[in-house]
Amino acid sequence: MVWFLPLIVIGGLFYPMLGYLVLIFMIFLLVLSIFKARFWCWNLCPRGSFLDLVISKVSRNKAFPKFFTRDWFRWLVFTLIISLLTFRLIAAGKSMMAIGLILVIMCLISTIIAIILGVITKHRAWCMICPMGLLQEKIGKIKPG
Ligand code: SF4
Repeated sequence: MVWFLPLIVIGGLFYPMLGYLVLIFMIFLLVLSIFKARFWCWNLCPRGSFLDLVISKVSRNKAFPKFFTRDWFRWLVFTLIISLLTFRLIAAGKSMMAIGLILVIMCLISTIIAIILGVITKHRAWCMICPMGLLQEKIGKIKPG
């Protein structure tokens, strides 16, 4: 799965339709989280795998700020990123290429942030505040019945 990351964030700059892989993964992981909470994060996520395989080797392994674990901060990050994404998608109109490129850029920017956080703190620091990680965690806690 790790190879999907360079495919999307580098390949997507040349072929923006690859950005739709992000959308497919998002839908898949959210459905999966109903049954298996954060199974995606620890077993399948391309960025998570990259952080484990590469960034863990160069991480300073310092504690990240405590507020990374606070729900208010995680929901703040979630709201900011999803609002920005929604705004950009509306502005893109119906252009499939433009939408694909927005998804690629979103993935690229969040990966850059994940790398910076991973190097200066712990390699999976981003995963504490990742909007998809938060959603999976919250959905996974909703037990049917
Ligand atoms: S928290 Fe986000 S980046 Fe980390 S493994 Fe889960 S989905 Fe991937």
